[in-house]
Amino acid sequence: MYAAKNGSEIEGSTIYVTLSPCIACARIIYSMKIARVVFLNSYAEYKGIPSDEGVDFLRRFGVMVERYVSGVTPPAEQPAS
Ligand SMILES: [Zn+2]
Repeated sequence: MYAAKNGSEIEGSTIYVTLSPCIACARIIYSMKIARVVFLNSYAEYKGIPSDEGVDFLRRFGVMVERYVSGVTPPAEQPAS
């Protein structure tokens, strides 16, 4: 879904993803000490499941998770790959 970069620059940073993280990705994101996740589409909506468990997981552990809303400054620090 997205490439996880190695290295310390990711710590405390914001990651931008197309889909909200599934629970497996959420664990990785949390372990990378990312401070904030911005997603475009809801994984739960995409999969037709009732809740974004990855989002719930991250929020429970203090990671800010936001849905990207058009009109906000486009993400610049994570080039699409
Ligand atoms: Zn995933």
